[in-house]
Amino acid sequence: MNEFELIDHYFRRPVLPGRRREIALGNGDDCALLSLPPGQQLAVSTDMLVEGRHFLPGTDPEALGHKALAVNLSDLAAMGAEPLAFTLALALPRVDEQWLDRFSSGLLALADAHQCALVGGDTTAGPLTLCITVMGRVPAGAALARHAAKAGDDVYVSGTVGDARLALEAHRDGQGCWQLRPEALQRVCLRMDRPTPRLALGLALRGVAHAAIDVSDGMAGDLLHVLRASAVDAEIDLESLLESPALSDDVRALPREQALTCALAGGDDYELLFTAPASARGAVVAAAAAARTPVTRIGRIRPQPGSVLSAAGLAAPPRVFWTDRQGRPVQPPARALASFDHFA
Ligand code: ADP
Ligand code: MG
Repeated sequence: MNEFELIDHYFRRPVLPGRRREIALGNGDDCALLSLPPGQQLAVSTDMLVEGRHFLPGTDPEALGHKALAVNLSDLAAMGAEPLAFTLALALPRVDEQWLDRFSSGLLALADAHQCALVGGDTTAGPLTLCITVMGRVPAGAALARHAAKAGDDVYVSGTVGDARLALEAHRDGQGCWQLRPEALQRVCLRMDRPTPRLALGLALRGVAHAAIDVSDGMAGDLLHVLRASAVDAEIDLESLLESPALSDDVRALPREQALTCALAGGDDYELLFTAPASARGAVVAAAAAARTPVTRIGRIRPQPGSVLSAAGLAAPPRVFWTDRQGRPVQPPARALASFDHFA
C-alpha cells in the first residue's frame, strides 16, 4: 500500500451530506474550504500525541484514535465551540494495516458522533506521532475565554477529576501503594484511555459561564492559567472538595495525600473547569442537566489585591487560597500542586 492508497483507504471520507454546510470542499484537494455563516467565528486548536511521551508503545490503536481526537474536541468544548472539521497529520514508522484499521475506526467513530468531518491532513514515514487540528464555530463574542473570570464568580468543575492520574499511578506502581481492585482499575483506565470531551456542557454554558478551561495538565495548574489570564485569585475549600462528587469513589477512597495528588495535579481527565457569577447558579444547574453532565461548585474567585507590581504595570502572580470548611488556610502537599510540564 503506498501513501495515496493508504490515505484513500483509511482517511478519505465523503463529507456528511447535508449535515455540514460549512464544508464547501473536503479532503482530496490542496486545501479544504470552509464557509462560516455571518456572525460566527472559527475556533481552531491543535494537539499532538507522541509515542513514548503521551502514550506507551503498544497502546490499543482504537483507543488512541479516540483519544487523539477527544483531546482536541475538549479544547473546543472549553471555548463553548461546536465542532465542524479536523485535519490529521500522521507520522507512521511502517504501514501496519491492522493498526491503521483500528486507529481509524476509533478516530472516525468519535468524529461521526460529533459530526466533525476529516477534511485533510498529511501522512509521512517517521516515529509514531499524531497531530490533529480541530476547527469549530462559535457566535462572535460568545466563546468562553480564560481571561473572562470575574471576582465573586463561583468556580466549578465538571464530572470527576483525578481518575486518569490514578490509572497512571496504578500502572507504574512499584511499591503497591496504589493497588486497586480490578473493577476500580478498569473504571479509571477507561477514563484515561477514552476521555469524553464535554462538548454538550461547553455549548450549554455559553452565555452562562464567564471563563472556562479544560483540565488537561492538572486542576490546580489549569486553574492558575485562568487566574493569570483574568488577573484574579481564587479560594478553594479542600475539605469540601475531598468529599464532593467532583472526586470519583475510587479517588475518594485513597489516603488524603494521594487523593489530593490525583484531584489537583492529575491531568488527562478533560473535564471543564469554569467560572460563573453567583447570580447564575440556577442557570449552571440547568446547563448541567441539559448536557447530562454533573458539575460541582468547588470555590470562588477573589479580587487580586492591588500590588506594587500591578501598579508598575506588571501582572501579579495569581494565588489560590486553599482552605478548610471554616475558611482557615490549608497547605496541600507539594506534589499535589505540581502541574505537568514537558520541559520541567
Ligand atoms: P500535499 O501534496 O498537498 O501535501 P498530500 O499528497 O499530502 O497533499 O495529500 C493528498 C490529500 O490527502 C490532501 O487533500 C490531504 O489533505 C489529504 N490527506 C493526506 N494525509 C491525510 C490524512 N492522514 N488524513 C486525512 N487526509 C489526508
Ligand atoms: Mg502532504
